[in-house]
Amino acid sequence: MNPLIPFNKPYLTGKEAHYIYQAVYSGKISGNGIYTKGCQRFFEERYGFKKTLLTTSCTDALEMAAILANIQPGDEVIVPSYTFVSTALAFVREGAKIVFADSCANNPNIDADKIEALITERTRVIVPVHYAGIACDMDKIMQLAEKYNLLVIEDAAQAIDSFYKGRALGAIGHMAAFSFHETKNIVSGEGGMLAINDDRFADRAEIIWEKGTNRAQFFRGEINKYGWVDTGSSFLPSEIVAAFLYAQLENLDDIQRKRKEIWGLYASGLAGLAEKGLITLTDIPDYATNNAHMFYIVCRDLDTRSKLIEHLKASNIHSVFHYLSLHKSDFYSARSGKTASLPNSDHYTDCLLRLPMYFELTHDNVRFITKEIVDFFNDPS
Ligand SMILES: *Cc1c(COP(=O)(O)O)cnc(C)c1O
Repeated sequence: MNPLIPFNKPYLTGKEAHYIYQAVYSGKISGNGIYTKGCQRFFEERYGFKKTLLTTSCTDALEMAAILANIQPGDEVIVPSYTFVSTALAFVREGAKIVFADSCANNPNIDADKIEALITERTRVIVPVHYAGIACDMDKIMQLAEKYNLLVIEDAAQAIDSFYKGRALGAIGHMAAFSFHETKNIVSGEGGMLAINDDRFADRAEIIWEKGTNRAQFFRGEINKYGWVDTGSSFLPSEIVAAFLYAQLENLDDIQRKRKEIWGLYASGLAGLAEKGLITLTDIPDYATNNAHMFYIVCRDLDTRSKLIEHLKASNIHSVFHYLSLHKSDFYSARSGKTASLPNSDHYTDCLLRLPMYFELTHDNVRFITKEIVDFFNDPS
């Protein structure tokens, strides 16, 4: 039997421990030091985000965004049902009512054509999630935001180094949240970042980040003492985390090139099954790029997917399904009584399957996995 092919394996560039050592022995290990600033500068210069703040997770960055959006109890926030819990939870903590939207028929992203019908006079924010790093239809979403005076907060957790009509994901909405969790393309164990593209939020973001104090301004010498000026929390990571992330960012091009190579190999190996209509592969609209965050297939039904997972497991290949529609979750249904019918979200809940995807996955591994999948569909017993 071949050794286990895990679903994910975090990649180390080799420099992480060195930079952590540097951070530790520099004597500055709390947050907002040279590695934090170095990472933030990297993102601002490379992707054109106006201001960035590292956070301890993408969940944290979303919570900061919800505070900055000044969400009040009863305000409504439109979120896709097919997403991670944090996309909704960050706003629920501020008292928001979540209004779930369905996915597109041909990909798991929020269906921009179905958003307008969900907007009421209480709506404040739309949260597009760029699933698998593939862009949502941002022009339509930004036009709606303008028409109804709403904020757009991109959940770009999976979307590093991906683009919409040439613009970096995370640079389009008023704010955006990224994740460096060990399952993402660029990792720091746990970690995240808030990108702020609307200047109105920039100064307050720094205060919320630093426990409601104006300490960041104090350290820059802009004021001569600092104190409690607003709400907030401890959202900033230590320099140890930032040092790890810095090593990853230095290797971003290499990591992306390798992941795209693996993605392409999967796509060609499975094209035949897709042509026969046995599975569906990722749809990449003309306006979007692929950052090879994830390789998924969509099976025709839940039963086929369950059997395929078992078939792959028998060959020591670990494949995993993904989100369970949030509008059907225990937490949400207990609080909201009636639930909408969101058939596309439910379809991805039942039928989407993610295949192993990580830097060290070899070409032989990918050929073996695709062969096992082809065999399964040729003889699905
Ligand atoms: C990973 C992920 C998150 C959460 O990221 P953390 O850094 O673990 O908090 C949120 N939203 C989406 C879409 C994700 O993929």
